[in-house]
Order: sequence, then C-alpha cells, then structure tokens
Amino acid sequence: MDMRTHTRYTGRMPIPFVAANAWERDVCRLCRQHGIEIRWREHAAAGRAYPTERRITIGRVKGPASYAIALHEIGHLLGPRQTSHRLEKEVGAWEWAKAHALVWTDRMDARLHKSLLSYLRWALRRRGNVIKPTDDHVIWTLLDRQTAQEQLTRSSEP
Ligand SMILES: [Zn+2]
Repeated sequence: MDMRTHTRYTGRMPIPFVAANAWERDVCRLCRQHGIEIRWREHAAAGRAYPTERRITIGRVKGPASYAIALHEIGHLLGPRQTSHRLEKEVGAWEWAKAHALVWTDRMDARLHKSLLSYLRWALRRRGNVIKPTDDHVIWTLLDRQTAQEQLTRSSEP
C-alpha cells in the first residue's frame, strides 16, 4: 500500500507525502479505507470535518494528542449521533475515535476530556434550543463526571 497516492495536499505540505510515524500512517489508512480526503494544514491545532464533502482538515499527526484529534474528525464522518445536536455530535465523534484507535492513552483521554468540556461549557452557557446534558446523558460514558463538574465550577468563578 502506497501512502503517496492517497491524499491530495494543500498549503506547503511536502510532495510526495510520507507518513511521519505509525500514528499518521493509521490516520491515512483509515481515510483511504473509508474514502475520506485529507487536507493537511501546517499550523492546525484543531481539525475540522466536512461530512458532505467527505473530507477532513487536520495538522500533521505527531503523536497521541494529534492522532486523537484526527480520529475525532474522522468520527464526524463515520461515527454515531452525527444527525443529532451539537454536543451529541461531539460525543459521537469521540466514541468513534476511542473505538477505532490503535491504542487509547492518557494523553488522548486528556484531549477528549478537554474538548468535551469546552463543548459542555458552551452548551451550559447557551439558553433556549441547546439540550443540556441530563444525569443519564451519553457524555458521562466518556467524561468523568466529578472531574468535569469541578472544572466547570472552577471556570465559572471570577
Ligand atoms: Zn468535533
């Protein structure tokens, strides 16, 4: 299998492209397998998914944290709950990432936690149409509730 023929490259990405490590190789493999186009960004701290175009935009995968982000973006195309509300979509993308990762490390879990917590914060701040997570919400299968609640309390203090 040749990585070089799979993806198209934008920005200042090197051509031909060779995956930097096993993490990045796995992201390329998954995208090839599922017909997802990767657009690489040199300075992307976070990724972005474009489900209707079957495309993701990510930075280079350098280790567990950026691997987790890349898988999360793929999860927005292949994961569960993607027709639901925003918080559910984020949870579904992380569920997919966790289920399909080669390994799931503490650093990856920390990235998941940070990301979901920021969406949770967003959801709780909003009024009206946003569904607030109930006690039996699926988010609590991924997030440690007590840690999350402590962090949410801390961040709302002046
Ligand atoms: Zn997301």
